[in-house]
Amino acid sequence: MNICVIGSGYVGLVTGSCFANCGNNVTCLDIDKNRIKSLKKGKIDIYEPGLSDIVERNFNAKRLKFTTNYKEAIENAEIIFLAVSTPPNSDGSANLDYIKNATMELSKYINNYKIIVTKSTVPIGTTYLIKNLIKSQTDKEFDVASNPEFLKEGSAINDFMFPDRIVIGTHNTKANNIIKSLYEPIIKKGTKYLNTSRKCAELIKYASNGFLATKISYINEIANLCEKINVNVEDVSIGIGLDQRIGSRFLRPGPAYGGSCFPKDTRAILATAKKFNTNLSIIKSTVKSNEQRHKILLDKISKILNNKIKKKRITFLGVTFKPNTDDMRESPSLKLIPKLHKSGAIISYYDPSGEKIDFKKYKNVNFVNKISNACKNSDLIILHTEWNEFKNLNFKRLVKKRNFLIYDMRNIYSHKKMISNNLNYFGIGR
Ligand code: NAD
Repeated sequence: MNICVIGSGYVGLVTGSCFANCGNNVTCLDIDKNRIKSLKKGKIDIYEPGLSDIVERNFNAKRLKFTTNYKEAIENAEIIFLAVSTPPNSDGSANLDYIKNATMELSKYINNYKIIVTKSTVPIGTTYLIKNLIKSQTDKEFDVASNPEFLKEGSAINDFMFPDRIVIGTHNTKANNIIKSLYEPIIKKGTKYLNTSRKCAELIKYASNGFLATKISYINEIANLCEKINVNVEDVSIGIGLDQRIGSRFLRPGPAYGGSCFPKDTRAILATAKKFNTNLSIIKSTVKSNEQRHKILLDKISKILNNKIKKKRITFLGVTFKPNTDDMRESPSLKLIPKLHKSGAIISYYDPSGEKIDFKKYKNVNFVNKISNACKNSDLIILHTEWNEFKNLNFKRLVKKRNFLIYDMRNIYSHKKMISNNLNYFGIGR
């Protein structure tokens, strides 16, 4: 099939390269000229394991093309995926400007029947908006469908090729059958396929992210209680998770949820609920709990340092919101580091995905390109992100100072072992 994917970021590039890998002819389109120029040279500016291999393979096989030219990309395509960003407006609702601009542009080149599919996370009713925009531009035949994406950064290729489910929202069987046939190689491997109305598909995406965010906030709050009553939250997580009605995933406490999806999508579903005069009080509490979480962590840091943060050398190991991605969007470190810096701490950080532009404006926040150099003079090491290379460190060799402290925000290390090795070690909820 001939496919066009509009937007070549995390979702668009993964979608395009995976569909090409299934034997389709895919054109990935973006308005970012530099991104497309780099992609044509085989350079990918996104850190995502396995992505460069699959892009290179399919580019060389001429199944995957990159362009900034809408005419060329749209005229040949049978299915057009919209994978552009939907960032939050100041009131939390999704900003649909990118969707609208892409829709207006693609409308000009609809020359025969096409299906336009939203892969971006969009508010309930967006497929109607797209339909009406296109209708105002052309009288050619087309359908609009919703196909929310559930991939996770860091394991995006695997998530795309082996998803738990594929959700397609359509209003007729013609569009449904065509989209389903595109997904047939994935469905054949056993993935569950769900055909719903378009509004339902849109809501499934938001309701899923709202639920997962709630699960994370829930265990984070249980971890707060564990610290007060001297119970290990890890045992509690196991005990809860063994109940099959609950399940064991997303029950690991940490700094706070971040990334480009959960914070944005929880706020967006609240904006939708407000529009329809419905009180989603549980998601409201989740958002509040998550937004306040950095205060609890900062209090703990202050307590660990005997209320003396000024001039203390603090090392962050990892600053991204999770491992195996370079994505800094809504990472908890974006709140923690500036606050500690304001309190007079001298901060070094190391992240395998490199230096971050977000911290360049702070005088005493410096990127160090080696774990050992970052830790050498540290008073406090904060394990912020669970990258594999932080999982087996010999802290006593890394740090030259005596009496340094470790705050493991991901509970990577065994509390018992660290204490028996005479390390000043603190975890979350234990
Ligand atoms: P991104 O910012 O990485 O990529 C978006 C791309 O769209 C950019 O390259 C941008 O230049 C391009 N773009 C914007 N307007 C355009 C236009 N008019 N024409 C062509 N290209 C245009 O965003 P992302 O993380 O890939 O997210 C895309 C959508 O997918 C969002 O709605 C997001 O909520 C959703 N989503 C993201 C993830 C994730 O983990 N990142 C997972 C599931 C769903």
